[in-house]
Amino acid sequence: MRKKNLSVLFSIAIILSILGSCSKESNYNQVEIKQVKDELSIIFLLGDGMGFAQITAAWHQNQFLHMQNFPFTGFVLTHSTNKFVTESGAANTAMMGGYKTNYGFLGVDTYENPKESLYEYLRQKNYRTGIITTAHLTDASPAALFTHRTNRYEFEDIALDYYHQQADFAAAGGQDHFDKRQDQQNLLSNMQNQGVEIFHSLEDLQKINTLPALGMMYTGRPPYLLDGRNDYLYQASEKALQLFDNEAFFLFIEGAHIDLGGHLNSIEHQITELIEFDNVVGMALDYATRRDNVLVIVVSDHESGGLTLLQGEGMEYVPNYAKDEHSGVMVPIFSYGPGAERFTGIQDNSDIYHNIRALIDYHINP
Ligand SMILES: [Zn+2]
Repeated sequence: MRKKNLSVLFSIAIILSILGSCSKESNYNQVEIKQVKDELSIIFLLGDGMGFAQITAAWHQNQFLHMQNFPFTGFVLTHSTNKFVTESGAANTAMMGGYKTNYGFLGVDTYENPKESLYEYLRQKNYRTGIITTAHLTDASPAALFTHRTNRYEFEDIALDYYHQQADFAAAGGQDHFDKRQDQQNLLSNMQNQGVEIFHSLEDLQKINTLPALGMMYTGRPPYLLDGRNDYLYQASEKALQLFDNEAFFLFIEGAHIDLGGHLNSIEHQITELIEFDNVVGMALDYATRRDNVLVIVVSDHESGGLTLLQGEGMEYVPNYAKDEHSGVMVPIFSYGPGAERFTGIQDNSDIYHNIRALIDYHINP
């Protein structure tokens, strides 16, 4: 198999809107109100299924990745407590909760005890929260933020869990789990009645200017980019950052289809999905560099496909998939911002939570 030419596949316009700056016009002697809060904001970008080989392939496609601009990098061990090769439930529970758990568990430890996630902790601290994913909102990676279950496939129950712990801003697929339910509840109209702006298209996404808001962009699982998915991942992420401006926030962004492409053993899907994700990474990094209180983490939950890149003709490579499943090799982590140096070297996935949490708590109570 020869390396395919992917140059015509897609292009995503990177339009960075200039975020409005506050203007001070008064010279009166007033008690100074701090305009910039000291709390540390977090942008957590998850490339689901993104291993070193996928990153290498995408780099050679593009001859550049925004990830290369991060000052700190490290390696992450991904295993669950009972299986060497993990999945998104256990892996994201570790990163979002600070403890390893069993394969397939979400937000509960190995004894099935529910434990607070970073998202839940920060909601209580009145952080703005955002969840943006190309998966369904009830999928294991985002669900690790707000669900406590031993079965990651209870999608309608997970939708109810989201309903009870809503983010200020979310955009994802999986609308059917909210409004075509066996229990006949329509969670979307309930939320609408509570004042949540619900949107379904890029056009309506651009019109959103208040929180809370929820984008249900696809009724089921959103398609691959190559099968026509729109670029809501980028646009919703940009919108969330605009709406959160000057408030402490936690924004979770997931490129989910890098993993699915691995299950399909499709280098084309893995590369295109990774490059889209990387464009969002670049936008987030650019946002953070214009502030002094934003920590950006880019990480993967596990590799997908057991991909290696073997010698082809000359500078071409041959993608070689070992399996249509995840593998257990370490994955990379990239970090930028206050405390970013903590995320270097070899760390366990559960350490990521503890490092983020220590930095947040330091900034809340120095
Ligand atoms: Zn997977």
